[in-house]
Amino acid sequence: MDKIKMTTPLVEMDGDEMTRVLWKIIKDELLLPFVDLKTEYYDLGLEHRNETDDQVTFDSAYANKKYGVAVKCATITPNAARVKEYNLKEMWKSPNGTIRAIMDGTVFRTPIVVKGIEPCVKNWKKPITLARHAYGDVYKASEMKVACAGKAELVFTAEDGTETRELIHEFKGPGILQGMHNLESSIESFARSCFNYALDTKQDLWFATKDTISKKYDHTFKDIFQEIYEAEYDGKFKDAGITYFYTLIDDAVARVMKSEGGYIWACKNYDGDVMSDMVSSAFGSLAMMTSVLVSPEGNFEYEAAHGTVQRHYYKHLKGEETSTNSVATIFAWSGALRKRGELDGIQELMDFADKLEAATIETIEDGKMTKDLALITSIQNPVVLNSQDFIKAVREKLEEKLK
Ligand code: NAD
Repeated sequence: MDKIKMTTPLVEMDGDEMTRVLWKIIKDELLLPFVDLKTEYYDLGLEHRNETDDQVTFDSAYANKKYGVAVKCATITPNAARVKEYNLKEMWKSPNGTIRAIMDGTVFRTPIVVKGIEPCVKNWKKPITLARHAYGDVYKASEMKVACAGKAELVFTAEDGTETRELIHEFKGPGILQGMHNLESSIESFARSCFNYALDTKQDLWFATKDTISKKYDHTFKDIFQEIYEAEYDGKFKDAGITYFYTLIDDAVARVMKSEGGYIWACKNYDGDVMSDMVSSAFGSLAMMTSVLVSPEGNFEYEAAHGTVQRHYYKHLKGEETSTNSVATIFAWSGALRKRGELDGIQELMDFADKLEAATIETIEDGKMTKDLALITSIQNPVVLNSQDFIKAVREKLEEKLK
């Protein structure tokens, strides 16, 4: 069989620990035998980040902007223990944070739905994709403890020195205060990323805030989404047969619980933080969540939503058997290959991505899975496979499909 040809390279961002081990097996077993894989390789493993003073992370993000599609392995975000363990020159920043800042993107997380791993919410039949605004609000807030009676005001001093004041509260005794902000430019990027992703995946988009209570702050989010939608997306959404739907956050939560899924739910920063954990745990497992960073200009970075699975890596280093779930990492590759195929007009590559995903899902539905899934599946007597054998089982299915 001839290997599938690619024209533009994928930006490949390698990573750390157990996911780095899986990365290589996935390439050897599921990609290289079938695809004439073109990648521009960046080693984001912690040792190499340290050697390059983290320059490699920046270079990989700029390459993503240049080529448009990247696939990223999970990476260690160093803390004090890691600085010691890897003898680091510095406590390098989170690569995901660096890449997100350069791409100015929004992260979309989607559960991978398989028969036998049922969501806790019985009526959820299709995945719910969560889009979280990743800038500002309570994450960049200033806070104060008030010790005694007094007046608290919001004060904005314009560049020309003019002051605008708003009373917050006349304190009669001790209390607490918080000031937070967001930027129109960031909200606009968030809105465009969400509208583009909805068009890209042909799913309805929901957005919700508490604009009835927060008449300036949250209302601005609502207004910016509405203005951009009407000016740039209304026609495109109608052509694609999808809808944009705004509602109050409490109404959205109630509707989400009663829905059957199959849409994108855009959330402000804090709502997204909380709701993405609710959605992912209700769908079954962090190891079954894909994640894609989409920039407003339409660049994509695909990854798994989980970390480097450190505990399994230490077992692996001791020569013990591991049963690490590679599904989200396989889907990061399939997502990136499909997008590359779409952008370059290579139907074969898109078909390959579909088959790779179908082979992965069918392997699990046939009862062959890693330990984390075996613990939660409704399939009777599942066969628990180790890290390598699960990927080999997927390869068998994939070969059948490619015949
Ligand atoms: P983790 O996601 O690696 O693990 C959290 C828990 O989920 C563990 O109990 C783990 O065993 C389980 N788990 C996660 N993925 C699994 C899989 N594929 N198969 C089986 N079990 C799985 O997160 P952590 O332990 O908090 O962090 C480990 C390292 O990963 C840290 O150094 C952290 O900085 C990094 N991290 C990276 C990313 C990223 O690159 N996107 C995200 C989160 C954490």
